[in-house]
Amino acid sequence: MSKTEIKSLTLPEVEQLLVSMGEKPFRGRQIYGWLHRRLAVSFEEMTDLSGKLKKALAERCEITALKTETVQVSKIDGTRKYLFALGDGNMIESVLMRYQHGNSVCISSQAGCRMGCKFCASTLDGLVRNLTAAEMLDQIYCIQKDTGERVSHVVVMGTGEPLDNFDNLFTFISMLTDEHGLHISQRNLTISTCGIVPNMRKLADKQLQLTLAVSLHAPTQEQREGLMPVAGKYPLEQVMDAARYYFSKTGRRITYEYALVGGQNDGPKDAAALAGLLKGQNCHVNLIPVNPVRERDYVQSERETIVNFKNKLEKCGINVTIRREMGRDIDGACGQLRKRYAER
Ligand code: SAH
Repeated sequence: MSKTEIKSLTLPEVEQLLVSMGEKPFRGRQIYGWLHRRLAVSFEEMTDLSGKLKKALAERCEITALKTETVQVSKIDGTRKYLFALGDGNMIESVLMRYQHGNSVCISSQAGCRMGCKFCASTLDGLVRNLTAAEMLDQIYCIQKDTGERVSHVVVMGTGEPLDNFDNLFTFISMLTDEHGLHISQRNLTISTCGIVPNMRKLADKQLQLTLAVSLHAPTQEQREGLMPVAGKYPLEQVMDAARYYFSKTGRRITYEYALVGGQNDGPKDAAALAGLLKGQNCHVNLIPVNPVRERDYVQSERETIVNFKNKLEKCGINVTIRREMGRDIDGACGQLRKRYAER
């Protein structure tokens, strides 16, 4: 019989487990606190449990604990890129970015990805598997332990499509934001999606206060399909409807991510089309100069083109920022660390 992954269990589930072992529910709360507040990685550390209970737990359960394979530190801004090994040897990556407003961690939601976006390194070898809730949480826990600094913001923008792993993602969100764990504010959590329409709506129905970031990358269906195969399944119009639905259910304004790809979606006509598409929406556009990926032949837009694009949107009354590049000296685009490792 395979062991229960106790770190993916919610508090009521841990309490239930302990009751099924003949213990009182408060033991469950104690253990949950060890795992999610004190960030214990073994039952041995749980000094207020009896030796007998620790042994019984170790027989029934395993505690997910990622292994840090490498850490790269930026000399420019202190950004730290982590390569973690999962229990089965798969590799994932996470990034810590230090901002004025706090420490932000970017985590992966899957090992690999099956969405196939043309400019993205994470999808080149397809999807290996979903991450469990514990594997998502542990990226944050490991980084907090490594730096000794509190993580205040989390973005699910690493490898993988979070809404393609909905149930584990939802468990992760609950455990990360509730008062029994790190208690990160829902408002400090961003989930980024390429536009899995039914699950955008499902998330909206949960009525959480988190930010939904939608990877738009093109102002027309035709252009979008060229960059993102998922657009063939979920057309632009449906994505926009789902985004408006998210806002209507949560009152949270949508962030649209738009990777500027030299000569493909970065012209004045594209900016005008994008302004038209977003007209009247309470939203924010984040322009990302595309990160060149060795296996693809995309190039970054010229600085002047980027600034013109931004100005055009602003003239149309749209909130827009150009994403600051963090840790430029330590590796290429997201997903490249993991890929380079696999090649070695
Ligand atoms: N699957 C989710 C989240 C992971 S990707 C999504 O699609 O939103 C996080 C963001 O990085 C997405 O907007 C994605 O399109 C973008 N991205 C991927 N590769 C990139 C690259 N080479 N340059 C710039 N942005 C990239």
